[in-house]
Formats: sequence, C-alpha cells, structure tokens
Amino acid sequence: MKIAIASGKGGTGKTFVSTNLFWTAQHFGIPTTLIDCDAEEPNVREFLDGEEQLVEHVYQNVPHIDPEKCTFCGKCAEYCNYNAILFLPENRFIKVLSDLCHDCGACSYACEYEAVIEQKKQIGTVKIFDFDGFSHIIESRSEVGVYSPVSVIKKAIKEADPQHLILLDTPPGISCPFVATVEQADFIILVAEPTPFGLHDLKLSVSTLRQLQKPFGVIVNKSGLGNRAVYQWLDENKIPLLLEIPFDKDIARTYSEGKILSQENEAYRKIFQQVLNIMMHTHWS
Ligand code: SF4
Ligand code: SF4
Repeated sequence: MKIAIASGKGGTGKTFVSTNLFWTAQHFGIPTTLIDCDAEEPNVREFLDGEEQLVEHVYQNVPHIDPEKCTFCGKCAEYCNYNAILFLPENRFIKVLSDLCHDCGACSYACEYEAVIEQKKQIGTVKIFDFDGFSHIIESRSEVGVYSPVSVIKKAIKEADPQHLILLDTPPGISCPFVATVEQADFIILVAEPTPFGLHDLKLSVSTLRQLQKPFGVIVNKSGLGNRAVYQWLDENKIPLLLEIPFDKDIARTYSEGKILSQENEAYRKIFQQVLNIMMHTHWS
C-alpha cells in the first residue's frame, strides 16, 4: 500500500506526520519505506538516520543545436510545447533554453537535418538508506536550478520495494511535483492547520484530489489554534477527520530537537498505530 502525506503549504506538519507513521510502522514490525518526495527541500533525514546503501544519479537529455547542420527552418521551435527553444529567424539565431526543457524529444523528432544533438545533464540524486535491516528511507534531491523535480521524484518512487508499506512525504502545494507524487498513492493524508489560511490551502488540495479521484482523509495539526471553520467544512463535505494533534509546546520541542514523538511518547505511538490501522484495514473508494 502507498500512502501519501501531503499539505497545501510547507510548515504544516507533513514531515512530522510522515516520520512518526514511519517510525511507528517499523517499530511494530511492518517493513516500511518512507520516500522523501520533497526533492527541492528534502528534510526527512533530519529526523531519521540510516546507513547509506545506494546512490543513483538522475539525468535528463538536453538538446543542443549544431549550427553547422541547422538550416534555421524553425520546425523544432514549433514542435516545442514548453517554449524552450529561442528562435530568431531574421538573425539566424537558435538556442535551447535548457532550464525550460522537459526532455520530451519533440525537437529531435521534428528536425529533418540531424541538427539536434542530445546531451545528458544531471538533474538530481536518489539515495537509499537502510534504517533497521528491513525498512528503508529514500531521499530524492534535485539539483539547484532544475526547472522541475518530477523525474527525480518518479525515480525515487520506482526504487521502493513494492512489498513494503510505502509512505510518500509529498512536496507542498498542488503543482506538478504534488500531482506526480499523489497519483502514485492509494490513499492521501492531508495535514492541515485549523486557521483561515489552513482552510484555504486545504480546499485547494481537496479540489485537486477530487479531480484525480483519489481517496483522502485529514489530520488536523496544532488543534486548539485558530477556529472551528476547518472542522465544520470537513463535516459539511463528509471528509474523514483521521486525527487531531494538539497545539502543544512539548510536541513542538520534540520536533524542533529532531526527535520522533512516537519514539518518545507511548501514548502518541498508540495513536499513530491506530491511524496506520485505519489506513491499512479500511476499504477506500
Ligand atoms: S526536448 Fe522537448 S522541451 Fe526540450 S527543447 Fe526539445 S521540444 Fe522543447
Ligand atoms: S528543425 Fe533542425 S534545422 Fe530546423 S531550426 Fe530546428 S534544429 Fe535547425
């Protein structure tokens, strides 16, 4: 089973939830892989250590145009859906803007003069860590300045053992990296704060998941902060509230010290275990 843990914005407690679910699952003997899919800013390993087992580099093909062969017909620029080819016919100037290129191959297909040459460019790294002999942490990390981390995220998800419970720490927001992660999941846990901003971001995430026709539930983090509008909205829209985590200084301290709440506090270990049981034993449609 693949469970994605997501939130409309960063700093909501998504990594707090995913690291606690991971620690609890492996503690109770479930072989689990936690994948840090937040490739632009991975931080799972600030909380969970492990022995590095494998490093894979992720590459993208970036086209270059051979000025000796190019006839400046402009067909490649017409085929490029991402405006990644700067073509100035009156100046006989053509250049691929590598930061905008999505490696779709359309320009190579379009060119009849073999003027498009593809060169490899490293866009990220995927690292696999052994946590305890039977559970793993996978970290995706894109290179600085890479336009889209989606290929790096997809590579990281591919590396997970399909026999494991797979937890996906999802990139914040609702853009391509979020969609590329949640579309792989069987169930999505949305982590939200009970504030007007939290509700606004939650509505956007829910709307996207409904379009993708994915089952989901909500964990409210920092409950007691803000107001009751999030709860009313969940109720009105029949969205399952999976757990409330109180706004508590001790929890915040544990997190800021890089510790795992489930490991430190038996009561929370049981609560996260219950969440896992609900996830794994409910038929979601
Ligand atoms: S590979 Fe695709 S995105 Fe990149 S320059 Fe060619 S057509 Fe454009
Ligand atoms: S299609 Fe080929 S020949 Fe035409 S402009 Fe592009 S690279 Fe040059």
